[in-house]
Amino acid sequence: MLGMYTSYTCKGCGKQLVLITEEIESMSKGRYLACSYCNNRHIVKQKVGDSVKECMSEHSYRRCNGRIQQTR
Ligand SMILES: [Zn+2]
Repeated sequence: MLGMYTSYTCKGCGKQLVLITEEIESMSKGRYLACSYCNNRHIVKQKVGDSVKECMSEHSYRRCNGRIQQTR
């Protein structure tokens, strides 16, 4: 069973993103995930959880939004 949220860490700026797992799963091919801070495509999956808080590491809690972009 998948958790509701999946967290990622950006390789570019090192910030953390939390995305809705269902939206990632339903993403069509030709789309990719990118950092919403610096637009970097090198984001690394961290963990899946049922709450945003669960996904975020405790000491670096930030409000953030993931972004799904279309390949050009
Ligand atoms: Zn970034």
